[in-house]
Amino acid sequence: MSGAERHAAALQCDVGGGHAFTLRVPEGDTHARHVCDDCGYIHYVNPKIVVGSVVTWHGADDGEPRILMCRRAIEPRHGFWTLPAGYMELGETTEAAAMREAREEACADIRIDALLAVYSIPRIGQVQLMYKATLLSPDVMAGEESLEVALVRNNEIPWGDLAFPSVRWALTQHREVAQAGAFVPFTNPAGDMGNMVHGAD
Ligand SMILES: [Zn+2]
Repeated sequence: MSGAERHAAALQCDVGGGHAFTLRVPEGDTHARHVCDDCGYIHYVNPKIVVGSVVTWHGADDGEPRILMCRRAIEPRHGFWTLPAGYMELGETTEAAAMREAREEACADIRIDALLAVYSIPRIGQVQLMYKATLLSPDVMAGEESLEVALVRNNEIPWGDLAFPSVRWALTQHREVAQAGAFVPFTNPAGDMGNMVHGAD
């Protein structure tokens, strides 16, 4: 029994418990779905939305911008550096989700400035929205999911210890528009679907 089938065994339709699900292609559909045998309820499984931001602090004494980065305290990629990002919750906007993630992971108060990029990562069923954001106060510290947080100069970004390909994409693309007033949001780098090879990505 696959993981999806085990989940289906525990599925409940709108009617309630006791109904059994079968994995099949519903009429007029193109994908196999878990369909309730009794009432026809279809359990759709769709990509999840991850929202994050490249957050810049502009108030350093030396005038040089700093990027907010977090070192992961959780798997996957424990100990590697990432940007504040995470799964959207029901009932919130994408901007609110990005602000919440910055607060949770880095105790950071941010302002959302612009949509930086939209990434598709089909291998893990994710759509990622990354924002360009401004840090409103340098008082940041590690939240529950971070080992440490840091405000790094451009030349201090730990390129060799980034957690995920999309972190590298966002930081790289952000560099191109860090000074721009307006720009067109980025997508995946050409041909790169983020199929991470650990240690070589
Ligand atoms: Zn049912």
